[in-house]
Amino acid sequence: MHQQRERKVLLDSLRERTPASERCYMKARTILPGGLSSGARAFDPHPFYAHRGQGSRIWDIDGNEYLDCCMSFGVLILGHRHPAVMEAIKSQSERGLIFGAPHEMEIKFAQKFVQCVPCADMVLICNSGTEATMQGIRIMRAFSGKDKIAKFEGGFHGWHDYALWSHNLHPEKMGTPERPTLVPDSAGIPDAVKETMLLLPYNESAFTLIEEHACELAGVMIEPILGVGCIPVEKSFLERLRQVTRKAGVLLLFDEVVTGFRLGLGGAQEYYGVIPDLATYGKAIGGGFPIGAVGCSAEMMSEVIDGDMPISVAGTFSGNPMTLAAGNATLGFLRDNPQMYDEMAAKGDHMRSSFNEFAQQKGLPAIMTGAASLSQVHLREPPVSNPRDMLDQDHKTLHDFQLYLRYNGIFTPRIHWAVLSAAHSDEDLEWAIRAHKVSLEASIKAQAARS
Ligand code: PMP
Repeated sequence: MHQQRERKVLLDSLRERTPASERCYMKARTILPGGLSSGARAFDPHPFYAHRGQGSRIWDIDGNEYLDCCMSFGVLILGHRHPAVMEAIKSQSERGLIFGAPHEMEIKFAQKFVQCVPCADMVLICNSGTEATMQGIRIMRAFSGKDKIAKFEGGFHGWHDYALWSHNLHPEKMGTPERPTLVPDSAGIPDAVKETMLLLPYNESAFTLIEEHACELAGVMIEPILGVGCIPVEKSFLERLRQVTRKAGVLLLFDEVVTGFRLGLGGAQEYYGVIPDLATYGKAIGGGFPIGAVGCSAEMMSEVIDGDMPISVAGTFSGNPMTLAAGNATLGFLRDNPQMYDEMAAKGDHMRSSFNEFAQQKGLPAIMTGAASLSQVHLREPPVSNPRDMLDQDHKTLHDFQLYLRYNGIFTPRIHWAVLSAAHSDEDLEWAIRAHKVSLEASIKAQAARS
């Protein structure tokens, strides 16, 4: 009862602060599916409607200021409205927005990209992480002459039909830890697609399955930091995956949509010292504009482009000048200021260790996982080292935790996922840590009162 009252008070106070957002949301629900352009933006009692952003801060249309720890789900690695990016898009906009013809920025961007990405001599540019994994899968199939693609349970690789399987876990449908069952994450995905997929568990059995299916398996894709749960994959696991796939004649794709240019200039490949055959990108490399990319060797790219039956490379907006102006400015700034990576990682480490020490001292069942500038809170005892571990927590309390964070002025997505940027100052970090601690105590107290 007490928790319900607490939650109602919280929801009411969030509602009272955001009347204009509530009106927008009510209107949006009548004309947009679920009122949103992406389900990931949902929030209780309603999402706030963004008005403007600057550096590490975001303001809603009611004038409330939040510390932005969403950073557009990892896009804004330099923060809102970074001067280098703003200058680049201003300059590009004065010359035209889109041409339907090649332009020099494509080459400038691609040169920076391949200089930094260990597995890439060439890069295919598209419009989103979803398009990137779609093209990555196609490249693996075309190059290998095999059809089947393996993904890991809990892995997220965008929202096309070949990716949207077993991202969300359902205890009653998910199968055993050794042989997990493929479950679609959306209505409208043909059942026949299942025949082209193989689901791997995030444990040793994955290697056996890859060997068993080697003759039909084009490639394996993995997020080097499992997005669900912000769980860094063990280095030894990735090394083993590299060895096993190479030996089995199966390609390895790192989905670096989140980790690319975020864990470091060379992304997860550099961070772990494990080089995949190809890698997919998105988010940060577009500097705030929609982008996707696939990087691979010149040999692989020429095989799928110069053969009798080339893969299709298309897209009205692919290589958009505005996107590449912002992306080129972002990659250039990151390349010229590589110390920012150590600074962001130190802040992320400090946030995780402060939170985890606090939880331990107070005897609260909570852990913040993650790596570098990416973190996520789980309300259970450690460890959280597999997507299945996340099922074992009180999701109502997790929901309360999110409401408290928002109440305390922190913007994180509905599924807690805290992303830091180069714009987060030491003061911002202390605010974020304080708010996480206060919200943890309050939500666990509410849980205790309920039981
Ligand atoms: N892969 C990963 C690892 C992602 O996290 C995402 C998006 N969160 C995607 C692919 C899809 O990217 P987009 O939303 O740009 O289509």
